[in-house]
Amino acid sequence: MTEITVDGVRLIYVNPECIAAGMPWPVREITDLEPFMLDRLATGADDDVRMVLRPRFRAPDSADVYYLYWSEGGRARDIDVRVTQGGYTGTDFTNAVLTIYQATFCTKCGYVWHTLIIPPDNPYLDDRGVFNHELFRTKIVQSKILTCPTCHASLRQLVVKIFGQVEGERLPDCMIGMWHG
Ligand SMILES: [Zn+2]
Repeated sequence: MTEITVDGVRLIYVNPECIAAGMPWPVREITDLEPFMLDRLATGADDDVRMVLRPRFRAPDSADVYYLYWSEGGRARDIDVRVTQGGYTGTDFTNAVLTIYQATFCTKCGYVWHTLIIPPDNPYLDDRGVFNHELFRTKIVQSKILTCPTCHASLRQLVVKIFGQVEGERLPDCMIGMWHG
């Protein structure tokens, strides 16, 4: 785990090997540690996603979890090395957006998906406590927003990555289609 600054935001970059090895977290309190993502990242299979921790403003011993998602294919294994050796540059993160994990359901067909979404609340908070709203808007505009893999309806969230279906989960029949004409 290495501290980096990306787009003005101070982050702790979590190398997948640290997750696989069960290394201790560098802060005392972490919100939203998602078992699905820990298992998934520990395998090292995804070259377009990395976990990062954003220490809380005024509470540096606690952190929120985000996932850097690179929209134009994977280079994360290369970036792991550059981050560890101190040779990364801002260019490495130009196509990366800060996301959060969410189990997202499709209100049309009812299937539930393991997804990364651009969060509704701006995550681009710098060390002075200032939000970079312009950058947040730019990241949204640059992102390809995905629809439901089964029925292609809008998922009504800014979904940028779908890992697969949440097995055995489905929206109750009485709620399916209620948002669609
Ligand atoms: Zn659907």
